[in-house]
Amino acid sequence: MESSSAATVSAGPSPGPTPADLLHRLRARGAADPVTHVERVPARPGVPAPWPSWAPPELRAAFARRGVGAPWQHQAQAATLAYEGEHVVVATGTASGKSLAYQLPALATLLADPRATVLYLAPTKALAADQLRAVAALELEGVRPACYDGDTPRAEREWIRRHSRFVLTNPDMLHHGVLPGHAQWSGFLRRLAYVVIDECHTYRGVFGSHVAHVLRRLRRQCARFGSTPVFVLASATSGDPSTAAGRLTGLPVTAVTEDASPRGGVTFALWEPPLLPPDSGPSTPVPPQSTGDHDDLQQVRRSALRETADLLADTVAEGVRTLAFVRSRKGAEVVAANARRALDDAVPGLGDRVAAYRGGYLREERRELERALLHGDLLGLASTNALELGVDLVGLDAVLICGYPGTRASLWQQAGRAGRSGQEALAVLVARDDPLDTYLVHHPEAIFGAPVEATVLDPANPYVLAPQLACAAFEAPLTPADLALFGDGAKEAVDQLVSAGALRQRPTGWHWRHRERPEVDLRGEGGAPVCVVESSTGRLLGTVDGGSSHFLLHSGAVYLHQGVSYVVDDLDLVDGCALVHAEEPDWSTHARDITDLSVVSVRSYVDAGPVGMFLGEVDVTSQVVSYQRRRIATGEVIDTRPLDLPARELRTVAVWFTLSPQSLTLAGVQPADVPGALHAAEHAAIGLLPLMATCDRWDIGGLSTAVHQDTEAPTVFVYDGHPGGAGFAERAYGTASAWLRATRDAIAECGCESGCPSCVQSPKCGNGNNPLSKPDAIRVLDVVLANLPE
Ligand SMILES: [Zn+2]
Ligand SMILES: [Zn+2]
Repeated sequence: MESSSAATVSAGPSPGPTPADLLHRLRARGAADPVTHVERVPARPGVPAPWPSWAPPELRAAFARRGVGAPWQHQAQAATLAYEGEHVVVATGTASGKSLAYQLPALATLLADPRATVLYLAPTKALAADQLRAVAALELEGVRPACYDGDTPRAEREWIRRHSRFVLTNPDMLHHGVLPGHAQWSGFLRRLAYVVIDECHTYRGVFGSHVAHVLRRLRRQCARFGSTPVFVLASATSGDPSTAAGRLTGLPVTAVTEDASPRGGVTFALWEPPLLPPDSGPSTPVPPQSTGDHDDLQQVRRSALRETADLLADTVAEGVRTLAFVRSRKGAEVVAANARRALDDAVPGLGDRVAAYRGGYLREERRELERALLHGDLLGLASTNALELGVDLVGLDAVLICGYPGTRASLWQQAGRAGRSGQEALAVLVARDDPLDTYLVHHPEAIFGAPVEATVLDPANPYVLAPQLACAAFEAPLTPADLALFGDGAKEAVDQLVSAGALRQRPTGWHWRHRERPEVDLRGEGGAPVCVVESSTGRLLGTVDGGSSHFLLHSGAVYLHQGVSYVVDDLDLVDGCALVHAEEPDWSTHARDITDLSVVSVRSYVDAGPVGMFLGEVDVTSQVVSYQRRRIATGEVIDTRPLDLPARELRTVAVWFTLSPQSLTLAGVQPADVPGALHAAEHAAIGLLPLMATCDRWDIGGLSTAVHQDTEAPTVFVYDGHPGGAGFAERAYGTASAWLRATRDAIAECGCESGCPSCVQSPKCGNGNNPLSKPDAIRVLDVVLANLPE
């Protein structure tokens, strides 16, 4: 290992090794080559455009003072569309300057019309605060930008409502504060010219469906006050952004997707850690929230964390400024600590140039770390995905991605941190012990040849629609004309609310019958949210949705909140409250549950001889019955403790397939092996579904059985883990053959003997990954694929 001097990295472009040389040295370390694929992503020159003629000189000058000489073509194009009154979504890469695309038309309008207002929505308070600084720095007269969120002091709120013309907030505040208080906001809403929705790809699944209706409620209030604002949306690169933005806003939206900002070339390597010899014990270390289920297992790969730590140490030793993305905070700290140790062993003191970065740091601390990395005082940073939202840390020489981040969109967002204009950079995806990661490093076409995912949301979900209509009715009686705005199913949902006694029909429309407003949490689902309270201080740390509370907040659970570890003393389900105390034990906790499922109705099906493929409603009953404590450093199971929690019901949407017992026998699956075959196929199918839809395997549940009481056949169910469904099972049904083909290949191509976390084991199995049969799972999927039409 050679040491490097600070001078070589702190002074602008580093004359360090080329990405190809660097990769060559990294992969030459072990006996076997861990690199499964190398892709060259070519550099792209920027395409500047002149300032649009409508942009006032004053505004151009303000941007010029902030270092923006001229817009890139996509910025000018989107800005002009919006200025001309078209709803527009700009969906381009990391650091492509999406904010200029909405700032330009919005601010030009504020300057031209001294009464006009702009509402800006961000998914997080931190991003809104960043945007506030950016707009305020332009020092435009009369704009008076201000953040309006839960932290805004009461005393300032009235001033903001009356005087600010550029209000930055989030969907939760719009839902809880602005819309119910529309009378106080009437002046602002009456003059509303633009609604900006930043990072709109984060509004997906059930949360996205709620936000879609909050925006419809906003449009309804604007219409009542006589305004029709233009919507400008900014998205990470995503599939079919026009459709997704249209579903979110309920409006026709034009997409601008041609990224005209310059980009340096990237050498992108896919990296698979080697399998450890059998019986060498669990790989270490494992983070508490890792998806590695390392008990009862014969064979494992070297952990992605350890591999990433080594790669980070090696790149830093070469003087290369490197950012490592790790999924959990603990994981990021483990990677940083291991890299520091390895560097200090080689050159004492060199370890000081590596740090960990996570959400939960104060803004000043984060800025300091960013500054140190950009200047080269710091060479390596291990980070959680906290960086993904709104922090401008780009232009690194290398990016290591520890584990597939779940979507190609996030992968490109993270990889986009590498490379400055005119300089080549390296990106490495290190596969975790997980079926999806394993599949991807062996199928580079699924990363480099496939478009990024579409953002999936379903505003027609009755579990979202009905409570949102209740909110709308509280704000103003619903009229028949309003129902069209809320889309399919609105009339049905209103009828339900009437028969439940929540709404009453009068000549002026449907009225909310209660004094209090409906309690609806945009991010919560499956029951009222549970409050997390620190016993010693009475401080409310946050809330967890009811659906997750049994898993995350049972007595004895280790609960992480903004980077701090707490242990739950008591979960009070009657009061909806969990009492916790700060403690950082050296174990993590993992809840176990038992699940039962019954079919309510079939929406659609494919009859394929011995195989049937179905989409429909199901009732899932599950009960958290125990939890395991596992040593963080080794993954070793300390003990399993029983829990006494009630069972819960979930009405949701599932996709399922059945096979005839004869077809299984013919394929060589012995009757005794059928449960293990189906169970293994179920795990892998859940693991691969994120390839098809923007979901996480944690959004989905599954159940398999050799005979199900409703189908009377061997069956595998995969269901949305959200009441009413979130669109994931529907997407799985629509892409069934491609989804199950990828599942089959992932299992067949895994190098393990009899199943491992890279193929058929699941980190969230309620049965402790037992029984599982890897070879029979392949036979099951072969039967399905042979019969199912493409
Ligand atoms: Zn395997
Ligand atoms: Zn299982």
